[in-house]
Amino acid sequence: MINHITTLVLIAFSALMLTTACEESSSMENTETDRPEYAIALHGGAGVISRDIDDEIRQEYVDALHEAIRLGRDMLEDGAEALDVVEQVVRLMEDNPLFNAGKGAVMTNEEKFELDSSIMDGRDLSAGAVAGVTTVKHPITLSRMVMENSRHVLFATEGAERFADEMGVERVDPSYFHTERRHEQLRRAQERDEVQLDHSGEQSLNLDGHAQIDDAKFGTVGVAVLDRNGNLAAGTSTGGMTNKRFGRVGDSPIHGAGTYANNETCAISSTGTGEEFIRHAVAFQISAIMEYTGATLNEAADQVINGKLQPGDGGIIGVSHTGEIAMVFNSPGMFRAAADSRGRFEVSIWDEAEVLD
Ligand code: ASP
Repeated sequence: MINHITTLVLIAFSALMLTTACEESSSMENTETDRPEYAIALHGGAGVISRDIDDEIRQEYVDALHEAIRLGRDMLEDGAEALDVVEQVVRLMEDNPLFNAGKGAVMTNEEKFELDSSIMDGRDLSAGAVAGVTTVKHPITLSRMVMENSRHVLFATEGAERFADEMGVERVDPSYFHTERRHEQLRRAQERDEVQLDHSGEQSLNLDGHAQIDDAKFGTVGVAVLDRNGNLAAGTSTGGMTNKRFGRVGDSPIHGAGTYANNETCAISSTGTGEEFIRHAVAFQISAIMEYTGATLNEAADQVINGKLQPGDGGIIGVSHTGEIAMVFNSPGMFRAAADSRGRFEVSIWDEAEVLD
């Protein structure tokens, strides 16, 4: 009898061990085998993007996002490094006047352009950024030069321009950045005595610093990448906010707020009310939640964007070290796109389910 019971207990114990072993191996398989070889997410700004926007304009954005995500996907498919992909895709978007970065940047209260940008390498946390540059055609490239060719992380205004002289990076007359649309936007913002987040002048800061939701979007651009070698990188570029006081610097050139990358966790680029993203160290906080709690990228991003920020503040795009993609925002829309080695390829503006062509 005792022998019988012992045998039954042994069988039950073995079955339990087997089940546990299977569970462990399947969860290991999930992270290892389901992991895409590469992944990329990008944004072209978040905010109140009316569903009634003109079809033609909507299509222009969709096409621009397609072009950008296709470039990134193709480079990754060919084995390009994460940093190169981030730089090239951001450059493409800086050249497109639809976005508030490079050509098409918004204007300061003095009718000038002050551009901010940053880049970060998840391999070793090396980072570079520039703030308030006025003649640099591709601020993302200068950010990368700060990272790779100086002992510092962030250069601002005159110092950044002088560093640009030394680097021989492509320069333009400030009038290059001008578009009539942004000028009109500034005029409207000044009439209302507001500091606005990109486009149509309809999203402005309340006295408490939060975005008022009426009818606007942000137009900053950002890219986050996991490459075939398992390296993460992220970059962000912006003109900031319409009618911002000259000298104002937002989150985009601040690592930990507008951009972050760490191979152990994730790569993030933010868009929205820069002051709030700085106060909440949004990009770093997402990485830290992953690191300290074991949360997934989407869980961590949700905690920060929907738990710490206020509705309308903006959103992030990110890629984790396992190739998980997050595109989380608390504004009605965010221009965004994602692709990975398993065939994911999508462009969206409003809620998650959309895949626009
Ligand atoms: N975050 C940017 C800034 O505050 C604005 C944006 O995302 O459009 O400068």
